[in-house]
Amino acid sequence: TKRIGVLALQGDYEAHLKAVHAAGGLGFEVRTPEELATADGLIIPGGESTTMGHLMARFGMDTALKAFGKPIWGTCAGMIVLAQRITAGEKRGGQPLLGLMDIAVERNAFGRQIDSFETDIETSFGTVRGVFIRAPFVSEVGEGVEVLARYQDRVVLVRQGKLLASAFHPELTDDPTLHRAFIEST
Ligand code: GLN
Repeated sequence: TKRIGVLALQGDYEAHLKAVHAAGGLGFEVRTPEELATADGLIIPGGESTTMGHLMARFGMDTALKAFGKPIWGTCAGMIVLAQRITAGEKRGGQPLLGLMDIAVERNAFGRQIDSFETDIETSFGTVRGVFIRAPFVSEVGEGVEVLARYQDRVVLVRQGKLLASAFHPELTDDPTLHRAFIEST
């Protein structure tokens, strides 16, 4: 059984833990570099990316994640902290990012009238159910980055080597597709 860490500093990590178990993995909370060292892969959950970035720095998780070398999947705020830069949206520039993926993101990019919605998304893993909550999208992709899904012409799922990032939250649905795919990649 694969040991899938879920970064538990902030955000909806409990929903990811449940989804990992439902998809056949052993999910556990990660708050320290020591806990990270025992994981086969790590999920960075949704939440508030500025706060999450500051907490990661405080707990030494920024350095540990840059050196991790194993699969990482970021959802929503987790996708933002994996990115190299933010091209638009709130707090442009001033927040700490891991910069592990050669992507730029736009925060809170689906408008304020509809803060959250649930939809089917056609991906290279098949149709996936996902929830968008004040979601970002990928505004620029570098050469090594594969686009795995778009929603309304916006890039919402990308992969770069062992790194996966989704603008939406599959962990808030019953659809195990992406959790299974991530566990298989570890
Ligand atoms: N809007 C949040 C941010 O920019 C992300 C929202 C989420 O993770 N659901 O950090």
